[in-house]
Amino acid sequence: MAKINPFKNAMSQLANAAEILNLDKSVLEQLKNPQRILSVSIPVKMDNGETKVFEGFRVQYNDARGPFKGGIRYHPQVDMDEIKAFGFWMTIKNGVVGVPFGGGKGGVVVDPKKLSKGELERLSRGYVRSLYKYLGPQIDCPAPDVNTNSEIMGWMVDEYSKLVGKWTPGMITGKPLSMGGSEGREEATGFGGVEILKAAAKEMRFKKGATVAIQGFGNVGSFFASLAADAGFRVVAVSDSKGAVYNPKGLDVAALESYKKQTGSLKGFAGTKDLTNEKLLELPVDILVPAALENQIHGNNARKIKARVIIEMANGPTTPEADAILHKKGVWVIPDVLANSGGVATSYLEWTQNLSGFYWSKPEVLAKLTKYMLAAWKEVLSTRNKHKTDFRNAAFIIAINKIAQAMKSRGV
Ligand code: NAD
Repeated sequence: MAKINPFKNAMSQLANAAEILNLDKSVLEQLKNPQRILSVSIPVKMDNGETKVFEGFRVQYNDARGPFKGGIRYHPQVDMDEIKAFGFWMTIKNGVVGVPFGGGKGGVVVDPKKLSKGELERLSRGYVRSLYKYLGPQIDCPAPDVNTNSEIMGWMVDEYSKLVGKWTPGMITGKPLSMGGSEGREEATGFGGVEILKAAAKEMRFKKGATVAIQGFGNVGSFFASLAADAGFRVVAVSDSKGAVYNPKGLDVAALESYKKQTGSLKGFAGTKDLTNEKLLELPVDILVPAALENQIHGNNARKIKARVIIEMANGPTTPEADAILHKKGVWVIPDVLANSGGVATSYLEWTQNLSGFYWSKPEVLAKLTKYMLAAWKEVLSTRNKHKTDFRNAAFIIAINKIAQAMKSRGV
C-alpha cells in the first residue's frame, strides 16, 4: 500500500470541521500553514570514529494560544509532512484539552535501536545545539514521543541550560523526576486515555469486563493496558512491532509486562495465541485502542473492524476514509486530540511546576489531570450532540473556536 500522507489527512479533517463552522477564510488559511519550519543537519561522532549526519526537523505550527508545544520523535520514517501533521494536531489538541499552548512537533530520521547509548546522547545534544535559539519555556517547549524518553529529555535540558548559561527546566517536559520532571508524567497519556475510556464506556452502557484490544505496548499502550485492567476492563490482546498475542479470557497485563522485559517480545506468553497486527485490529472486541503509529485503520480494513468504540491513543491512527466508513457503521471513534491529550495536559502541569518552583505529589497531579480529561470529554460529547456530528469534528470545532478567538484577540 502506498504511504498515506498524514498532513493531507490532517488538512482533510480541518476542512470537515471548517465547513461545519463556516470558518473565517483568513483563520482557515493560517491553520493550513505552519508558522515556521526548521530543518537541520546534525553531525554525530559515532563510536567507530566516523562522523554521521542525521536529518532533524522542528515544525512550529501555531502559537496563537501560547508557546509551541509538542514531542520529538526518533524514527527512520520521519519526514516533514508527518511532522507538520503532528504539529497541526498538537495545536488542535492543546485547544481541546484547554492548556495555554500552541502546537509544534520535532523529529529525527534515525533508528535509535541501531545507536549505542553514547551515540544517542550525542545525537540528542546535537539536536538541541542545532535548534536552541528557537526553543525555550516561552517560545517552544518539546517533550517525548515515539522512541524518545525521560533520559533523552534530561540530556536535552542539560544541553540547553549549558548553551543559555542558566538552568532552564521549563524548556522541555517529560524530564526525569530528579531534573524537574513531574510526578505522574510517565503514565499520564495512558492514564488520561483510560479516564476517557471509562467515560465513553459509561455513555455506551458497557458492562464490567468489556473487552479491549490494544495495538502498541510502549509507554502509552502498556500504561493504558494495566490501568484499563485495574478499572475492570478485560484486555484480551496487545501487540508490539513484532506482532500480537491474544487470549479471549483476558491477559494478565502485569505478568505480560515482565515477560516482555525478560524476553524482549510478547510472543510465546503463556496461554496466548500469536496474531498479526492486522488481525488484532479486526478482533471481536468492544473497544479497540490503536497506541502505536499513524494510518493503521484505513479504507482497506475499516469495514472489518468489529469494535464499537475506538480510543485513538496513537496520533493519527485513522485515515479520513476510514473515519467516514466507521461513522456510517455507528462506531464511536474517540479522536487522538482528545484521547491522548493527557500527555500534554500533564506536560503543562510539569511546565507550571518548573516555572513556579513548587512541586505537587502524584495524587495531586493525577487529580488535576482527571479534571482536565473529564472537562474535555464533556465538552466534546455535548458539541457532538449539538452539531450531530462525530467526535473528531466536535473536538476540532472546540479547538478551532479557541484558536480563532486567540488570533482575533491578538489582532492577527
Ligand atoms: P513507544 O515508542 O514507547 O511505543 C510504541 C509501541 O508501538 C512499541 O510497543 C512498538 O513496538 C509498537 N509498534 C511500532 N510499530 C508498530 C506496528 N507497526 N504495529 C504495532 N505496534 C507497533 O511510543 P509511545 O510514546 O507509547 O507512543 C505511541 C503513540 O502514542 C504514538 O503515536 C505517539 O505519537 C502517541 N502519543 C504518545 C504520547 C506520550 O506521552 N508518549 C502522548 C501522546 C501521543
